[in-house]
Amino acid sequence: MTRNNSRSKLSIFALGGLDEIGKNMYVVRYGDDIVVIDAGLMFPEEEMLGIDVVIPDITYLVENREKVRGILLTHGHEDHIGGLPYILRELNVPVYGTKLTMGLVEHKLREAHLLNQTKRILVNNRSEIKLGSMKATFFKTNHSIPDSVGVCLETPEGNVVHTGDFKFDMTPVNGQAADMHKMAEIGKKGVVCLLSDSTNAERAGFTGSERNVGEALEEVFRKSKQRVIVATFASNIHRIQQVVDATALYNRKLAVIGRSMVNVVNIGMELGYLRVPPDLLIDPDEINRMPAHKVAVMSTGSQGEPMSALTRMAHGSHRKIEILPGDTVILAATPIPGNEKLVARTVDQLFRVGANVVYSTNSQHGVHVSGHGSQEDLKLMLNLMKPKFFIPIHGEHRMLRAHSQLAESVGIRPENIFISDNGDVVEFSGGKARYGSKVATGNVLIDGLGVGDVGNIVLRDRKLLSQDGILVVVVTLSKNNGKILSGPDIISRGFVYVRESEKLLEEANRIVTQTMEKCANERVSEWATLKTSIRDALSRFLYDRTRRRPMILPIIMEV
Ligand SMILES: [Zn+2]
Ligand SMILES: [Zn+2]
Repeated sequence: MTRNNSRSKLSIFALGGLDEIGKNMYVVRYGDDIVVIDAGLMFPEEEMLGIDVVIPDITYLVENREKVRGILLTHGHEDHIGGLPYILRELNVPVYGTKLTMGLVEHKLREAHLLNQTKRILVNNRSEIKLGSMKATFFKTNHSIPDSVGVCLETPEGNVVHTGDFKFDMTPVNGQAADMHKMAEIGKKGVVCLLSDSTNAERAGFTGSERNVGEALEEVFRKSKQRVIVATFASNIHRIQQVVDATALYNRKLAVIGRSMVNVVNIGMELGYLRVPPDLLIDPDEINRMPAHKVAVMSTGSQGEPMSALTRMAHGSHRKIEILPGDTVILAATPIPGNEKLVARTVDQLFRVGANVVYSTNSQHGVHVSGHGSQEDLKLMLNLMKPKFFIPIHGEHRMLRAHSQLAESVGIRPENIFISDNGDVVEFSGGKARYGSKVATGNVLIDGLGVGDVGNIVLRDRKLLSQDGILVVVVTLSKNNGKILSGPDIISRGFVYVRESEKLLEEANRIVTQTMEKCANERVSEWATLKTSIRDALSRFLYDRTRRRPMILPIIMEV
């Protein structure tokens, strides 16, 4: 307490991850010290046309850059580490993570040419990291990727615990149990505020053990007479391990397909998180040279993504492998909300080409369990930590609500629960907590290589283009008297089929000519005004006739 005066207080807020799934980024500040937990990305919603990824707006951190002591990572999923390559470019601070998490981060940073300039520090559940007036320790959790941890930040105002993503798995695939004793010890010392994962707060019961999936996979492998193709999340190393084990058990060879899957398998093997028997892996080129009952394939595409390996296989457009009648396809993942249609379409197509498809709705086997804790897991965490104050995190608003009800049910006082939005600052001082002034937050859209150079106007244009098409109007005027020399010519793309709409376009032509003549009579000669007049007149006319609003682009030339 010596270096911080009495005005110092503890504040906690999110720059991303509240009322949304993805781009997780939480900030804990005490006095002049800021600690960031996670730096994730989010995949764009459908209306963000052409945007590749979305990251949190980190203006607050950039403005306070000399106070930021580091970024602590809870685990290696994209919604927790995916923003780093963009964020570290603006904010060069040390990054702390466990071995596997750091392995995945290093791969990203190497691709972004940021590896050498980034200070990286490995941590484990025995590490104690001094971050200004705060100290971070870590506890192991169970999740759908190994090496996930929760964070305990010791601050002068008390311990702040951030769970990361977690569930309780009593029989974890890698034998790494969660640090329940350590969690209980932290709880015993006292927790001023708990931030806990709300993803599955609406689901009753405990989340199943990943080991159940292994048994289900083995069952399907045992019954399959031809090739077995398993599609799952590239990042779920536990599941990948179980596919490897089932393949070995039934004397098959395994081909890995999909760039992200190959990458994770390589990093997992290199760092010792995946145990693969020698000679088990084969090159995808060998698939067609081997007897069907000797082959298994593991691939991306469990979400029915149009360009993914599995979807292309189903449509016979994959270069290395085609699904044959009698092959078994396992979709070892449930669709992420919003992807249901894509997945259903892929399943239909797989059935159509004659495959046996095992997926979440038709399997009694249970080829997927979640990596996030259900209601009983969440209550267990609340009971272990016994926090005074509670902030539900990671989730859309209704999930945060459901989680807060769980917290009340185990005895947290309703007035001590803060259901927040990104940017809502909870301030703690002298054992009391209340909302302080808001911090600016937002989405930064990343389109290819550009960071944040696509704004709302560009998005609006793309939306117009995709819905109603574009009309380009070209007119050439005389430099001497402003009279029309040629045109107007109207070029249409994605608006109407020109051959069937000659009359409409002829009329549109007349409208433009009339508008230009009217402008000439009124002695309007600025091009901006001319263009606006053309756009307005044409837009009104076209909406009248077609109920569509194509983008209109007038081009005026002078010769
Ligand atoms: Zn996760
Ligand atoms: Zn997550």
